[in-house]
Amino acid sequence: MTASDDPPRQSLLDALAALAGIAAGDVGTEDLLVGLVDLAARHLAVDGAGVVICEGEDVRFVHASDQVFDGPELVQQLHREGPCRDAIAFAVEVVVDDLRDPVQTAWPTYVDRTLAVGFLSVVAVPLVSDGRVWGALDLYRRQAGTWQPEELQWVRLLAHLAASYLEIAADRDAARSAQRELAHASTHDALTGLPNRALLFDRLEHALHTAQRHRRVVAVMFVDLDRFKGVNDTFGHAAGDLVLTTVAARMGATLRQGDTLARLAGDEFVLVCEDLPQSGAAELQQSVEAVVARLRQALGRSIPVGEVDLVVSASIGVALSDQRTDADGLLADADGAMYVAKQHTPGRLGEFARETGPNGQPLRPPLRLLEHQLAEAEGLRQLRIHYQPIVDATGALHAVEALVRWQHPVHGLLPAAEFIDLATHSGSIVGIGRWVIAQTCAQMALWRDRLGPAAPATVYVNVCARELVDPLLGPTIVSALTRNGLDPGHLGLELLESSFIDPQVLVGLQEQQRLGHPLSVDDFGTGYSSLSRLVELPVRLAKIDKSFVAGITTDPRRRALVAAVVTVAASLDLRVIAEGVETEAQALEVAAAGCDYLQGYWCGKPQPAEALTARWLSSTAHR
Ligand code: C2E
Ligand code: MG
Ligand code: MG
Repeated sequence: MTASDDPPRQSLLDALAALAGIAAGDVGTEDLLVGLVDLAARHLAVDGAGVVICEGEDVRFVHASDQVFDGPELVQQLHREGPCRDAIAFAVEVVVDDLRDPVQTAWPTYVDRTLAVGFLSVVAVPLVSDGRVWGALDLYRRQAGTWQPEELQWVRLLAHLAASYLEIAADRDAARSAQRELAHASTHDALTGLPNRALLFDRLEHALHTAQRHRRVVAVMFVDLDRFKGVNDTFGHAAGDLVLTTVAARMGATLRQGDTLARLAGDEFVLVCEDLPQSGAAELQQSVEAVVARLRQALGRSIPVGEVDLVVSASIGVALSDQRTDADGLLADADGAMYVAKQHTPGRLGEFARETGPNGQPLRPPLRLLEHQLAEAEGLRQLRIHYQPIVDATGALHAVEALVRWQHPVHGLLPAAEFIDLATHSGSIVGIGRWVIAQTCAQMALWRDRLGPAAPATVYVNVCARELVDPLLGPTIVSALTRNGLDPGHLGLELLESSFIDPQVLVGLQEQQRLGHPLSVDDFGTGYSSLSRLVELPVRLAKIDKSFVAGITTDPRRRALVAAVVTVAASLDLRVIAEGVETEAQALEVAAAGCDYLQGYWCGKPQPAEALTARWLSSTAHR
């Protein structure tokens, strides 16, 4: 007798082949079990089938060939009774020829449910492979009657094969879930579990796309915790992490469907709202305010950290999309608004108002954009240096101060006051400073060549604390001096009082002074140190801030202050420069007060080197 002459046997072979076919596909355990049930119901001499899978001590109902089996199968899961459970517990098949025979069963609820749907006989086969029980397959018949040993053997064979395939499918499941975890890790922040920058951009781009199609507005809120560094410094990083996760969870709880909250970096979070009620501008504004109010409320609750209750606040910047904005631009706007809010009143809300010129181009570029452009300005040869003369009381040239300018392609020539803070904040000041030193020294050599003794004795460059801790500052200076045949006395450094606070900086400055660089305290009188502090600073010059000079002719107290600084400085053997001298009256006053040097529009505006060279050449020619 051949296989094809024996219909049940042929049917079993078909089932086995079909199962192998399913397993060969890229299926997981659940799919395989679904396939197994359907094959069993179709190819074996039964009226239905169901399957459960083991999960720890429990079983979970996965699939049945017909809905009528959901009841009995679920009883096995929920009531923890039934043939499947016994088959799994003892790793043997459980055969019930007649469910009405109380001797054969010990599962009252299961039996009730099964009889209720019209089935009288069941076999449960464990799915065992390599000693591990994966689950069990239930086969049902409407009629009571004996299950033949041969039938049971086939069923066992099918179950055994299914279990082997389950093992492979489980490996696949594990690989898939590892892949999913990896994908999650690459799009989510590990600490807070929130979407990260990459996913945020994805969602934001998608949101903008949809919004533009439906002429709707997307709101982006940039949330930056205030003084978060202080939390880390004072309470440690574990406390910092706790604050971040708490804040993330609390803000996350305020989200509505369609909102995305992401962690960009450190203490920066971004909320994207796509589905704001916005039938008109007023309603939109209200919706945004409501979201911000919810965020604030979430942030306002204290966070217990050890013994203390920390109260954090945040600066929030809001930007709204228009038909033209892209994800980068919108985020930069929100960041810029946050930055402005933080500068003025930390903990407050900033809103980015897109001011536009006649052609629709933004008049004031968002700060982040400016920061980005600034980082490239030197490479694009957009930086310039203007030099401002410093003269002595007789009006004779003493030195010059180098002041950096940015020839911005759209905004024209920007004075340092407009971008130095940004450069300091972003760190690009370090590169800019090195460039200024190199240029200034080259210029100084040119002047000495062309003007001889009429050249300024020293060129002063401004350096901030961040530049002073740059390990390349020393080498940059030395190489600029050597390349141009200059002495340290030709290159002076101007520093703010605040730069002297950092002990590391102070050591560096003492070294610069020892090498022979003239050092000067800039904006003297505006920092927090007192006059007595002058004694400790390694400086030769104090530059009295222009705010004192501005009031010197009208305010006797300012005049007294300038006189006091001059007296103290003289007794410490320091020279004094008055900066911001704009009028002859001011020039006379500061000279009378005893200032050694003057600087300001009255003595000469900051200007390109060539303009000064021409002026000095003509004045030496007249002498
Ligand atoms: P500063 O060193 O106190 O420079 C004086 C500022 O006052 C300059 O502004 C100058 O253009 C302006 N000024 C000069 N004379 C007068 C006057 O008579 N009246 C008034 N009202 N203003 C006058 P600027 O060039 O915008 O520079 C601002 C600040 O930026 C500088 O203050 C300095 O602290 C910083 N800075 C400039 N260049 C550099 C640089 O290359 N590196 C660094 N780190 N900082 C720089
Ligand atoms: Mg200066
Ligand atoms: Mg100054």
